[in-house]
Amino acid sequence: MVKAIVGANWGDEGKGKITDVLAQNSDVVIRFQGGANAGHTIVNDYGKFALHQLPSGVFNSNVTNIIGNGVAFSVENFVKEMQELKDRGVPEPKILISDRAQIVMPYHVLFDCYEEERLGKNSFGSTKSGIAPFYSDKYSKIGFQLNELYDDTDYLKEKIDRILEVKNATLKNLYNKPPISTEEIYNKLMEYKKALAPYVADTFTFLHNACAEGKNILLEGQLGSLKDTDFGIYPMVTSSNTIAGYGAVGAGGIPPYEIKDIVTVVKAYSSAVGAGEFVSEIFGEEADELRRRGGDGGEFGATTGRPRRMGWLDLVATRYGCRVQGATQVAFTVLDVLGYLDEIPVCVGYELDGEIIDYFPSTTKLKRCKPVLKKLPGWKCDIGGITKYEDLPENCRNYIEFAEKEIGVPITIVSNGPARSDIIYR
Ligand code: GDP
Repeated sequence: MVKAIVGANWGDEGKGKITDVLAQNSDVVIRFQGGANAGHTIVNDYGKFALHQLPSGVFNSNVTNIIGNGVAFSVENFVKEMQELKDRGVPEPKILISDRAQIVMPYHVLFDCYEEERLGKNSFGSTKSGIAPFYSDKYSKIGFQLNELYDDTDYLKEKIDRILEVKNATLKNLYNKPPISTEEIYNKLMEYKKALAPYVADTFTFLHNACAEGKNILLEGQLGSLKDTDFGIYPMVTSSNTIAGYGAVGAGGIPPYEIKDIVTVVKAYSSAVGAGEFVSEIFGEEADELRRRGGDGGEFGATTGRPRRMGWLDLVATRYGCRVQGATQVAFTVLDVLGYLDEIPVCVGYELDGEIIDYFPSTTKLKRCKPVLKKLPGWKCDIGGITKYEDLPENCRNYIEFAEKEIGVPITIVSNGPARSDIIYR
Protein backbone atom coordinates (compact mmCIF):
# COMPACT_ATOMS: atom_id res chain seq x y z
CA MET A 1 0.00 0.00 0.00
CA VAL A 2 1.37 3.38 -0.93
CA LYS A 3 0.51 6.36 1.24
CA ALA A 4 1.56 9.94 0.55
CA ILE A 5 2.10 12.65 3.17
CA VAL A 6 1.89 16.06 1.63
CA GLY A 7 1.15 19.67 2.59
CA ALA A 8 -2.00 21.62 1.73
CA ASN A 9 -0.58 25.08 2.37
CA TRP A 10 2.71 26.97 1.89
CA GLY A 11 4.85 24.31 3.57
CA ASP A 12 5.94 23.97 7.22
CA GLU A 13 2.64 22.31 8.08
CA GLY A 14 4.38 19.70 10.22
CA LYS A 15 4.78 16.98 7.57
CA GLY A 16 8.07 15.83 9.10
CA LYS A 17 6.45 15.04 12.40
CA ILE A 18 3.49 13.23 10.82
CA THR A 19 5.88 11.25 8.60
CA ASP A 20 7.98 10.32 11.61
CA VAL A 21 4.83 9.09 13.39
CA LEU A 22 3.52 7.12 10.41
CA ALA A 23 6.99 5.80 9.49
CA GLN A 24 6.77 3.56 12.53
CA ASN A 25 4.40 1.31 10.57
CA SER A 26 6.15 1.65 7.22
CA ASP A 27 8.67 -0.45 5.35
CA VAL A 28 9.83 2.26 2.98
CA VAL A 29 9.89 6.09 3.22
CA ILE A 30 10.67 8.09 0.08
CA ARG A 31 11.45 11.69 -0.73
CA PHE A 32 10.19 12.32 -4.25
CA GLN A 33 10.73 16.01 -5.07
CA GLY A 34 12.43 19.18 -3.92
CA GLY A 35 15.80 19.43 -2.28
CA ALA A 36 17.50 20.75 0.81
CA ASN A 37 15.58 24.00 0.46
CA ALA A 38 12.98 23.07 3.06
CA GLY A 39 13.49 21.46 6.42
CA HIS A 40 11.37 18.90 8.20
CA THR A 41 11.57 19.22 11.95
CA ILE A 42 11.36 16.03 13.96
CA VAL A 43 11.35 15.64 17.70
CA ASN A 44 11.78 12.13 19.09
CA ASP A 45 13.72 10.15 21.69
CA TYR A 46 17.04 11.10 20.06
CA GLY A 47 16.30 14.83 20.30
CA LYS A 48 15.26 17.53 17.85
CA PHE A 49 16.38 17.32 14.23
CA ALA A 50 15.92 19.47 11.15
CA LEU A 51 16.18 17.15 8.15
CA HIS A 52 16.75 18.87 4.82
CA GLN A 53 17.82 16.02 2.62
CA LEU A 54 17.23 12.76 4.47
CA PRO A 55 13.80 11.12 4.45
CA SER A 56 11.96 11.34 7.78
CA GLY A 57 12.06 7.55 8.21
CA VAL A 58 15.73 7.57 9.25
CA PHE A 59 14.89 7.23 12.93
CA ASN A 60 13.18 3.89 12.39
CA SER A 61 15.64 1.04 11.92
CA ASN A 62 13.00 -1.10 10.19
CA VAL A 63 12.54 1.47 7.39
CA THR A 64 14.35 1.60 4.05
CA ASN A 65 14.72 5.28 3.20
CA ILE A 66 14.85 6.26 -0.44
CA ILE A 67 15.90 9.46 -2.14
CA GLY A 68 13.91 9.31 -5.35
CA ASN A 69 14.81 10.37 -8.88
CA GLY A 70 12.64 13.50 -8.59
CA VAL A 71 14.76 14.99 -5.82
CA ALA A 72 17.31 17.80 -6.21
CA PHE A 73 20.01 15.88 -4.40
CA SER A 74 22.54 17.84 -2.36
CA VAL A 75 25.46 15.58 -1.56
CA GLU A 76 26.86 18.13 0.88
CA ASN A 77 23.65 18.14 2.92
CA PHE A 78 23.33 14.39 2.75
CA VAL A 79 26.84 13.84 4.12
CA LYS A 80 26.37 16.48 6.81
CA GLU A 81 23.05 15.05 8.02
CA MET A 82 24.32 11.47 8.05
CA GLN A 83 27.24 12.62 10.20
CA GLU A 84 24.89 14.47 12.53
CA LEU A 85 22.75 11.36 13.05
CA LYS A 86 25.89 9.37 13.85
CA ASP A 87 27.22 12.03 16.25
CA ARG A 88 23.91 12.11 18.11
CA GLY A 89 23.64 8.39 18.60
CA VAL A 90 21.00 7.50 15.99
CA PRO A 91 21.64 3.95 14.67
CA GLU A 92 22.81 3.99 11.05
CA PRO A 93 19.70 4.16 8.86
CA LYS A 94 19.07 2.08 5.76
CA ILE A 95 19.33 4.44 2.76
CA LEU A 96 19.12 3.99 -0.98
CA ILE A 97 19.59 6.82 -3.46
CA SER A 98 18.13 6.47 -6.93
CA ASP A 99 20.79 6.13 -9.62
CA ARG A 100 18.57 8.46 -11.66
CA ALA A 101 18.51 11.22 -9.02
CA GLN A 102 20.34 14.32 -10.15
CA ILE A 103 23.00 16.24 -8.25
CA VAL A 104 22.75 19.83 -7.06
CA MET A 105 26.04 21.13 -8.45
CA PRO A 106 28.17 23.70 -6.61
CA TYR A 107 27.41 26.22 -9.38
CA HIS A 108 23.65 25.77 -8.90
CA VAL A 109 24.00 27.23 -5.43
CA LEU A 110 26.19 30.08 -6.78
CA PHE A 111 23.73 30.91 -9.56
CA ASP A 112 20.83 30.91 -7.09
CA CYS A 113 22.67 33.45 -4.90
CA TYR A 114 23.85 35.63 -7.79
CA GLU A 115 20.44 35.75 -9.42
CA GLU A 116 18.63 36.68 -6.20
CA GLU A 117 21.25 39.37 -5.67
CA ARG A 118 20.74 40.65 -9.22
CA LEU A 119 16.94 40.74 -8.80
CA GLY A 120 17.24 42.81 -5.63
CA LYS A 121 13.82 43.82 -4.36
CA ASN A 122 12.18 41.63 -7.03
CA SER A 123 13.90 38.48 -5.73
CA PHE A 124 11.92 35.30 -5.09
CA GLY A 125 13.03 34.94 -1.51
CA SER A 126 14.87 31.77 -2.49
CA THR A 127 16.61 29.75 0.21
CA LYS A 128 19.65 29.90 -2.11
CA SER A 129 20.05 26.14 -2.10
CA GLY A 130 20.36 26.02 -5.89
CA ILE A 131 16.93 24.51 -6.53
CA ALA A 132 15.72 26.72 -9.41
CA PRO A 133 19.01 26.51 -11.35
CA PHE A 134 19.06 22.76 -10.65
CA TYR A 135 15.62 22.07 -12.13
CA SER A 136 16.29 24.46 -15.04
CA ASP A 137 19.36 22.41 -15.93
CA LYS A 138 17.54 19.13 -15.40
CA TYR A 139 14.90 20.05 -17.97
CA SER A 140 17.50 21.65 -20.24
CA LYS A 141 19.13 18.21 -20.20
CA ILE A 142 22.43 19.41 -18.78
CA GLY A 143 22.06 17.90 -15.31
CA PHE A 144 24.08 15.03 -13.84
CA GLN A 145 22.33 11.83 -12.86
CA LEU A 146 24.15 9.87 -10.18
CA ASN A 147 24.81 6.94 -12.52
CA GLU A 148 26.93 9.23 -14.68
CA LEU A 149 29.51 9.49 -11.90
CA TYR A 150 30.31 5.84 -12.40
CA ASP A 151 31.10 6.17 -16.11
CA ASP A 152 34.83 5.48 -16.36
CA THR A 153 35.46 7.06 -19.76
CA ASP A 154 36.29 10.71 -20.51
CA TYR A 155 32.57 11.32 -20.79
CA LEU A 156 32.24 13.30 -17.52
CA LYS A 157 35.11 15.70 -18.22
CA GLU A 158 33.78 16.39 -21.71
CA LYS A 159 30.30 17.03 -20.41
CA ILE A 160 31.53 19.37 -17.67
CA ASP A 161 33.59 21.27 -20.25
CA ARG A 162 30.57 21.71 -22.48
CA ILE A 163 28.34 22.94 -19.66
CA LEU A 164 30.90 25.29 -18.16
CA GLU A 165 31.28 27.07 -21.48
CA VAL A 166 27.75 28.42 -21.02
CA LYS A 167 27.94 28.85 -17.24
CA ASN A 168 31.21 30.78 -17.41
CA ALA A 169 29.89 33.11 -20.11
CA THR A 170 26.97 33.99 -17.82
CA LEU A 171 29.19 34.30 -14.74
CA LYS A 172 31.50 36.72 -16.53
CA ASN A 173 29.05 38.79 -18.55
CA LEU A 174 25.90 38.88 -16.43
CA TYR A 175 27.12 38.50 -12.86
CA ASN A 176 30.70 39.76 -13.17
CA LYS A 177 31.96 36.80 -11.10
CA PRO A 178 35.02 34.55 -11.44
CA PRO A 179 34.82 31.52 -13.79
CA ILE A 180 34.70 27.88 -12.67
CA SER A 181 37.21 25.31 -13.87
CA THR A 182 36.45 21.83 -15.21
CA GLU A 183 39.07 20.41 -12.87
CA GLU A 184 37.36 21.86 -9.80
CA ILE A 185 33.97 20.42 -10.76
CA TYR A 186 35.42 17.08 -11.81
CA ASN A 187 37.27 16.69 -8.50
CA LYS A 188 34.12 17.54 -6.59
CA LEU A 189 32.17 14.91 -8.52
CA MET A 190 34.87 12.33 -7.77
CA GLU A 191 34.52 13.18 -4.08
CA TYR A 192 30.75 12.67 -4.39
CA LYS A 193 31.27 9.40 -6.24
CA LYS A 194 33.28 7.98 -3.35
CA ALA A 195 30.93 9.25 -0.62
CA LEU A 196 27.80 7.92 -2.32
CA ALA A 197 29.02 4.55 -3.54
CA PRO A 198 27.41 2.58 -0.67
CA TYR A 199 23.99 4.11 -1.30
CA VAL A 200 23.42 4.49 -5.05
CA ALA A 201 20.98 1.85 -6.25
CA ASP A 202 18.43 0.85 -8.85
CA THR A 203 15.53 2.04 -6.70
CA PHE A 204 13.10 1.62 -9.58
CA THR A 205 13.40 -2.16 -9.41
CA PHE A 206 13.49 -2.11 -5.60
CA LEU A 207 10.20 -0.19 -5.47
CA HIS A 208 8.58 -2.16 -8.21
CA ASN A 209 9.23 -5.28 -6.14
CA ALA A 210 8.19 -3.60 -2.88
CA CYS A 211 4.83 -2.68 -4.45
CA ALA A 212 4.34 -6.20 -5.75
CA GLU A 213 5.07 -7.61 -2.29
CA GLY A 214 2.47 -5.31 -0.72
CA LYS A 215 4.98 -3.42 1.42
CA ASN A 216 3.89 -0.26 3.27
CA ILE A 217 5.38 2.62 1.36
CA LEU A 218 5.29 6.24 2.46
CA LEU A 219 5.86 9.13 0.06
CA GLU A 220 7.07 12.22 1.86
CA GLY A 221 6.26 15.53 0.20
CA GLN A 222 8.15 18.74 0.70
CA LEU A 223 6.56 22.21 0.88
CA GLY A 224 2.82 22.36 0.07
CA SER A 225 0.20 22.67 -2.67
CA LEU A 226 0.45 26.46 -2.83
CA LYS A 227 4.14 26.22 -3.71
CA ASP A 228 3.59 23.69 -6.51
CA THR A 229 5.08 24.86 -9.81
CA ASP A 230 1.79 24.34 -11.68
CA PHE A 231 -0.94 24.78 -9.08
CA GLY A 232 0.71 27.18 -6.65
CA ILE A 233 1.03 30.95 -6.54
CA TYR A 234 3.20 31.09 -9.67
CA PRO A 235 5.80 32.53 -10.07
CA MET A 236 6.42 32.64 -6.30
CA VAL A 237 6.50 28.86 -6.15
CA THR A 238 9.15 26.23 -5.75
CA SER A 239 10.69 24.68 -8.86
CA SER A 240 9.20 21.22 -8.42
CA ASN A 241 5.75 19.66 -8.13
CA THR A 242 4.79 19.30 -4.50
CA ILE A 243 1.66 17.26 -5.16
CA ALA A 244 1.08 13.60 -4.38
CA GLY A 245 0.40 12.88 -8.06
CA TYR A 246 4.00 13.71 -8.83
CA GLY A 247 5.02 11.04 -6.31
CA ALA A 248 4.44 8.39 -8.95
CA VAL A 249 7.08 10.06 -11.11
CA GLY A 250 9.53 11.40 -8.53
CA ALA A 251 9.65 8.35 -6.26
CA GLY A 252 10.20 6.09 -9.25
CA GLY A 253 8.76 2.66 -9.84
CA ILE A 254 5.34 3.35 -8.35
CA PRO A 255 2.31 3.06 -10.64
CA PRO A 256 -0.03 6.07 -10.09
CA TYR A 257 -2.93 3.79 -9.13
CA GLU A 258 -0.94 2.35 -6.21
CA ILE A 259 -1.15 5.66 -4.26
CA LYS A 260 -4.26 4.82 -2.28
CA ASP A 261 -4.08 7.14 0.67
CA ILE A 262 -3.12 10.82 0.58
CA VAL A 263 -2.67 12.21 4.08
CA THR A 264 -2.70 15.95 3.62
CA VAL A 265 -1.22 18.02 6.42
CA VAL A 266 -3.00 21.27 7.29
CA LYS A 267 -1.73 23.66 9.93
CA ALA A 268 -4.33 25.16 12.28
CA TYR A 269 -3.15 28.66 11.29
CA SER A 270 -1.06 29.83 8.32
CA SER A 271 2.58 30.62 7.81
CA ALA A 272 4.68 31.15 4.72
CA VAL A 273 8.28 31.77 3.84
CA GLY A 274 9.40 33.74 0.83
CA ALA A 275 7.43 36.15 -1.31
CA GLY A 276 4.02 35.58 -2.91
CA GLU A 277 0.28 35.84 -2.38
CA PHE A 278 -0.97 35.17 1.13
CA VAL A 279 -4.54 36.48 1.47
CA SER A 280 -5.04 35.79 5.20
CA GLU A 281 -1.68 37.28 6.22
CA ILE A 282 -1.56 39.29 9.44
CA PHE A 283 0.94 41.90 10.55
CA GLY A 284 2.20 43.84 13.56
CA GLU A 285 1.83 42.70 17.13
CA GLU A 286 -0.90 40.19 16.22
CA ALA A 287 1.51 38.43 13.85
CA ASP A 288 4.48 38.72 16.20
CA GLU A 289 2.61 37.01 19.00
CA LEU A 290 1.47 34.10 16.80
CA ARG A 291 5.00 33.78 15.38
CA ARG A 292 6.52 33.76 18.84
CA ARG A 293 4.10 31.14 20.12
CA GLY A 294 3.96 29.13 16.89
CA GLY A 295 5.49 25.76 15.96
CA ASP A 296 8.06 24.45 18.39
CA GLY A 297 9.81 27.52 19.73
CA GLY A 298 8.56 30.05 17.19
CA GLU A 299 7.86 30.20 13.47
CA PHE A 300 11.30 30.68 11.98
CA GLY A 301 12.50 28.95 8.79
CA ALA A 302 14.09 25.53 9.38
CA THR A 303 16.57 26.22 6.55
CA THR A 304 17.22 29.95 6.78
CA GLY A 305 16.16 30.88 10.32
CA ARG A 306 14.26 33.87 8.94
CA PRO A 307 10.91 34.82 10.51
CA ARG A 308 7.95 33.22 8.72
CA ARG A 309 5.04 35.34 7.51
CA MET A 310 1.96 34.62 9.62
CA GLY A 311 -1.77 34.46 9.00
CA TRP A 312 -5.04 32.90 10.08
CA LEU A 313 -6.22 29.55 8.81
CA ASP A 314 -7.23 30.13 5.20
CA LEU A 315 -10.01 27.66 4.44
CA VAL A 316 -10.35 28.76 0.80
CA ALA A 317 -6.66 28.07 0.13
CA THR A 318 -6.71 24.91 2.25
CA ARG A 319 -9.77 23.44 0.49
CA TYR A 320 -8.03 24.07 -2.83
CA GLY A 321 -4.74 22.74 -1.46
CA CYS A 322 -6.45 19.50 -0.40
CA ARG A 323 -8.17 19.09 -3.76
CA VAL A 324 -4.91 19.64 -5.62
CA GLN A 325 -3.39 16.87 -3.54
CA GLY A 326 -6.38 14.56 -3.93
CA ALA A 327 -6.53 14.36 -0.12
CA THR A 328 -8.19 11.27 1.36
CA GLN A 329 -7.65 12.40 4.96
CA VAL A 330 -6.32 15.46 6.76
CA ALA A 331 -3.83 15.70 9.62
CA PHE A 332 -4.55 18.96 11.46
CA THR A 333 -1.41 20.20 13.21
CA VAL A 334 -0.08 22.73 15.68
CA LEU A 335 -3.53 23.23 17.15
CA ASP A 336 -2.09 23.63 20.66
CA VAL A 337 -0.56 26.97 19.70
CA LEU A 338 -3.98 28.65 19.35
CA GLY A 339 -4.92 28.10 23.02
CA TYR A 340 -4.11 31.73 23.96
CA LEU A 341 -6.76 33.40 21.83
CA ASP A 342 -10.21 34.55 23.01
CA GLU A 343 -11.50 34.39 19.46
CA ILE A 344 -9.82 32.79 16.49
CA PRO A 345 -10.34 34.36 13.07
CA VAL A 346 -10.48 31.99 10.07
CA CYS A 347 -10.69 32.98 6.42
CA VAL A 348 -13.91 31.59 4.89
CA GLY A 349 -14.02 33.46 1.58
CA TYR A 350 -12.27 36.00 -0.59
CA GLU A 351 -13.57 39.32 -1.72
CA LEU A 352 -12.61 39.78 -5.37
CA ASP A 353 -13.57 43.04 -7.09
CA GLY A 354 -16.53 43.50 -4.74
CA GLU A 355 -17.78 39.92 -5.02
CA ILE A 356 -17.39 37.12 -2.48
CA ILE A 357 -15.84 33.97 -3.93
CA ASP A 358 -15.20 30.59 -2.34
CA TYR A 359 -12.62 29.25 -4.81
CA PHE A 360 -8.88 29.83 -5.04
CA PRO A 361 -8.23 31.76 -8.24
CA SER A 362 -5.09 31.98 -10.39
CA THR A 363 -2.42 34.45 -9.32
CA THR A 364 -3.54 37.53 -11.27
CA LYS A 365 -6.92 37.49 -9.54
CA LEU A 366 -5.49 36.28 -6.24
CA LYS A 367 -3.45 39.47 -5.98
CA ARG A 368 -6.72 41.42 -5.75
CA CYS A 369 -8.37 39.19 -3.14
CA LYS A 370 -9.10 40.34 0.40
CA PRO A 371 -9.91 37.88 3.20
CA VAL A 372 -13.44 37.40 4.52
CA LEU A 373 -12.93 36.43 8.16
CA LYS A 374 -15.19 34.65 10.60
CA LYS A 375 -14.36 34.53 14.30
CA LEU A 376 -14.69 31.26 16.18
CA PRO A 377 -14.61 31.14 19.99
CA GLY A 378 -11.25 30.11 21.48
CA TRP A 379 -10.77 27.43 24.15
CA LYS A 380 -8.31 29.36 26.32
CA CYS A 381 -6.34 26.46 27.72
CA ASP A 382 -3.40 24.21 27.03
CA ILE A 383 -4.48 21.12 25.10
CA GLY A 384 -0.99 19.57 25.28
CA GLY A 385 -0.99 16.05 26.72
CA ILE A 386 -4.57 15.23 25.65
CA THR A 387 -4.70 11.91 23.81
CA LYS A 388 -8.43 11.37 23.24
CA TYR A 389 -10.52 13.45 20.86
CA GLU A 390 -13.45 13.56 23.31
CA ASP A 391 -11.19 15.10 25.95
CA LEU A 392 -10.51 18.21 23.85
CA PRO A 393 -12.46 21.30 24.99
CA GLU A 394 -15.74 21.77 23.14
CA ASN A 395 -14.64 24.98 21.39
CA CYS A 396 -11.53 23.23 20.20
CA ARG A 397 -13.56 20.37 18.73
CA ASN A 398 -15.86 22.95 17.13
CA TYR A 399 -12.85 24.63 15.52
CA ILE A 400 -11.68 21.30 14.10
CA GLU A 401 -15.14 20.32 12.91
CA PHE A 402 -15.76 23.72 11.32
CA ALA A 403 -12.47 23.42 9.41
CA GLU A 404 -13.33 19.87 8.38
CA LYS A 405 -16.68 20.89 6.97
CA GLU A 406 -15.15 23.76 4.98
CA ILE A 407 -12.27 21.65 3.68
CA GLY A 408 -14.55 18.76 2.76
CA VAL A 409 -12.10 16.03 3.79
CA PRO A 410 -12.17 14.09 7.09
CA ILE A 411 -9.70 15.28 9.74
CA THR A 412 -8.51 11.96 11.13
CA ILE A 413 -5.35 13.04 12.95
CA VAL A 414 -4.92 16.01 15.27
CA SER A 415 -1.44 17.05 16.37
CA ASN A 416 -1.27 18.90 19.69
CA GLY A 417 2.47 19.24 20.22
CA PRO A 418 5.79 18.74 18.46
CA ALA A 419 6.65 15.32 19.91
CA ARG A 420 5.87 11.95 18.37
CA SER A 421 3.47 11.19 21.21
CA ASP A 422 1.49 14.44 20.87
CA ILE A 423 -1.08 12.94 18.57
CA ILE A 424 -4.83 12.29 18.63
CA TYR A 425 -6.47 9.82 16.26
CA ARG A 426 -10.09 10.33 15.52
P1 GDP B 1 7.36 20.48 7.67
O1 GDP B 1 8.37 21.01 6.72
O2 GDP B 1 5.98 20.42 7.10
O3 GDP B 1 7.77 19.19 8.29
O4 GDP B 1 7.24 21.55 8.86
P2 GDP B 1 8.41 22.20 9.75
O5 GDP B 1 9.16 21.16 10.42
O6 GDP B 1 9.15 23.21 8.98
O7 GDP B 1 7.53 23.07 10.76
C1 GDP B 1 6.71 22.54 11.65
C2 GDP B 1 7.13 23.04 13.04
O8 GDP B 1 6.08 22.81 13.93
C3 GDP B 1 8.30 22.30 13.61
O9 GDP B 1 9.03 23.14 14.46
C4 GDP B 1 7.67 21.15 14.40
O10 GDP B 1 8.45 20.65 15.45
C5 GDP B 1 6.46 21.85 14.93
N1 GDP B 1 5.27 21.03 15.12
C6 GDP B 1 4.77 20.01 14.35
N2 GDP B 1 3.58 19.61 14.83
C7 GDP B 1 3.32 20.40 15.91
C8 GDP B 1 2.22 20.50 16.81
O11 GDP B 1 1.22 19.80 16.71
N3 GDP B 1 2.32 21.45 17.79
C9 GDP B 1 3.39 22.29 17.93
N4 GDP B 1 3.39 23.18 18.90
N5 GDP B 1 4.43 22.23 17.08
C10 GDP B 1 4.39 21.30 16.10
